[in-house]
Amino acid sequence: MTSPSPAVEPDCPVCALHASDPLREAYQIVRHGPWLLRHHPDPAPLAGWLLLDSRRHIGGAADFDALECAGFGSMLQRSSALVRALAGCERVYAIAFGEGARHFHLHLIPRAAAEPASESWRIADLYRSVAAGERAPADPALVGDLVRRARPLAAAWLAADQS
Ligand SMILES: [Zn+2]
Repeated sequence: MTSPSPAVEPDCPVCALHASDPLREAYQIVRHGPWLLRHHPDPAPLAGWLLLDSRRHIGGAADFDALECAGFGSMLQRSSALVRALAGCERVYAIAFGEGARHFHLHLIPRAAAEPASESWRIADLYRSVAAGERAPADPALVGDLVRRARPLAAAWLAADQS
């Protein structure tokens, strides 16, 4: 799967992150066809909280083109399995609001029984308390370690799809 580099939309934080070498260096796990998978930037609510972005500036799944439709299932499955492997959680939530940025970014959230604050809509309270500085974010060193562990695993997806 290949697609041309999408244009950057001024004032879109997701486009800005995709265009930023330091942010991609810190958080990007893989760019695959029309998708970019990354860790949530610091302050990250939980270690292993990933985001699956469209590379195009589109508002949501209703705007997917044929290429995005064709590849979404395998990216969702692989990315969710990666969250489970990295975070050691039992399940993975998938939520796309498109409010903080009107650019499709699917939150892939580790749900672990050992972390009661990750249960269902409590996750919204957790997110807000980290954003407000009332709860400590995930350790940036741990996030960096997860990103480095994730990259070779995700690189294998590209190799598999090109063979
Ligand atoms: Zn954008």
